[in-house]
Amino acid sequence: MSKKGSNRRNNRNNNRRNNSSYGSGGSDGGKPGSGRKKAFAVCALIIVCCLCFAAIKYCADRNRDSGGAERQQSTTAGAGPETSGGENGNIPAVDAEDLPGYDGKHYVTVNGNTPEFPDEVTAKAYDASGRLTPYEFYGSLDDLGRCTIAYGCLGEETMPEKGQERGDISPVHPSGWAKAQNWERCHLIAWALSAEDDNPGNLITGTHYLNYDGMRPLEEETERYIWNTGNHVIYMVKPWFSGDELVARGVQMTARSVEDKGKGISFNVYCFNVTPNASIDYATGIVTTKEQAEQEPRLYVINKRSGVFHYPSCEGAQTMSPHNREEVTATRVELTSQGYVPCGYCEP
Ligand SMILES: [Zn+2]
Repeated sequence: MSKKGSNRRNNRNNNRRNNSSYGSGGSDGGKPGSGRKKAFAVCALIIVCCLCFAAIKYCADRNRDSGGAERQQSTTAGAGPETSGGENGNIPAVDAEDLPGYDGKHYVTVNGNTPEFPDEVTAKAYDASGRLTPYEFYGSLDDLGRCTIAYGCLGEETMPEKGQERGDISPVHPSGWAKAQNWERCHLIAWALSAEDDNPGNLITGTHYLNYDGMRPLEEETERYIWNTGNHVIYMVKPWFSGDELVARGVQMTARSVEDKGKGISFNVYCFNVTPNASIDYATGIVTTKEQAEQEPRLYVINKRSGVFHYPSCEGAQTMSPHNREEVTATRVELTSQGYVPCGYCEP
């Protein structure tokens, strides 16, 4: 146990070093004295990034074309690794519409549920003599303070020791953390797998739905597998942000067991950072429940003839005859109590 423990400490110390050397001139946080290797790895990562964004765009387009019907089974987001936050410390921008759309399930599979890892991620799992070496890696925060990526080769060595208790994570305020919105600090790599407490590179602003319903079953599956077999799992978690938004739209989780070549653990999914029945402003972290939305006055467009009310953005509101059209600022409750009926299309 003590040997295992000290290995783990060494691994973790390496990672701390990696993490702190981050964000300066696009360093990938490699070991000291591996400059050429580093440069090569960064180039490779940039290429992989470009490819995967092209893949996302392609898949999203294809989904749109097919009316999104295949979404539950099909590829939707790319396996996108970028570790040092791109050239100027920013995550390359993704449009929300290029990410999978939530339609009631906790997650959708990516790439047919087949894991894909950049070479870097698997290469780091072996030392110079080709021996499997557990490690953890946490990408630096980008210029907007957002998590970029977390990955590693996980095993008993990276897990908390027996009886170890989780430390305090409350001082960390991940990007988009807004007070009193029921946000949870959501570990990219679960504490049970990494023993990482308050590492800011590993904590994002997430909903309970993401944390417990989306991610936890896969984390527990991985944890059980490691305990039962003593094997290792290559594991990568990446939050996906739209544009400059501070709260991630979702989290991609990719894992594959090493010793049995994916027989025990193999998945590649995108979990949604949503709360059913609430709308999230991903730019600010403000969450509005349906009940709150009903209480808050806002602009609606009413059809005086039919008595139907719309959001101003609804096609029904935009094509309405000016003769019947009226704009009002009111709460939803006020309108329904006056007998107005919400449009079935825009569902105001
Ligand atoms: Zn409408």
